[in-house]
Amino acid sequence: MNAIEVKHWFRRYADRILEKKNELTDLDSAVGDGDHGVNLARGWKAIGNEMETFDGGVSDIFLLVSRTLISKVGGASGPLYGTAFLRMSAVLRGKEQIGKDDWPGLLKAGCEGIGQRGRVNGGEKTMYDVWLAVTEAAEKKEPEEATLALRLLEAARKKAEEIIELQATKGRAAYLGERSIGHRDPGAESTVLLFEALHDTVSN
Ligand code: ADP
Ligand code: MG
Ligand code: MG
Repeated sequence: MNAIEVKHWFRRYADRILEKKNELTDLDSAVGDGDHGVNLARGWKAIGNEMETFDGGVSDIFLLVSRTLISKVGGASGPLYGTAFLRMSAVLRGKEQIGKDDWPGLLKAGCEGIGQRGRVNGGEKTMYDVWLAVTEAAEKKEPEEATLALRLLEAARKKAEEIIELQATKGRAAYLGERSIGHRDPGAESTVLLFEALHDTVSN
């Protein structure tokens, strides 16, 4: 995936977030403070605009995304996603493109960034659970990038469904205690959209 394709991926994701802004916000209204969609839409709209005139390499694009998320999104998700993209930018430093074999290390770096920043290990019912599932799915070798992207997307969707029945123990949803059971996690759902956008990008 070269820099142009990475920009396509993020452009698709920005569109997806803007489309799903209200849905994400409704999910967050049920378990948090109802701003997840609004927060992400503000950041990804800015990223979409900045990418139009940006012609850096793959690592620079991830860095641009990270900086914009950290400065524009706020809440828990801004620094969490911002850290993930920052760590991924570091992995890509000096590379012309994301090669097929770069995905496991790239996703692992992003996932670890979220785990450290959020102080989570998995099972707390956050976006991290989905990142971890995707990272594990990336470890199996796959000759085709489109097949890999499908596997990542399926792992993300499956995990986002599985954690519905968990009780949240981190983030605002944890304040609900047992009442968080049965709800979707907003950050898990916005993470699924990132891998939906990736799949759409590599299979088109
Ligand atoms: P806030 O909760 O500050 O309003 P958002 O609504 O933008 O922030 O994001 C909420 C999402 O962030 C949650 O759905 C969850 O996936 C994720 N999240 C919250 N706290 C943590 C944490 N400590 N570690 C990992 N993810 C977290
Ligand atoms: Mg919120
Ligand atoms: Mg908030």
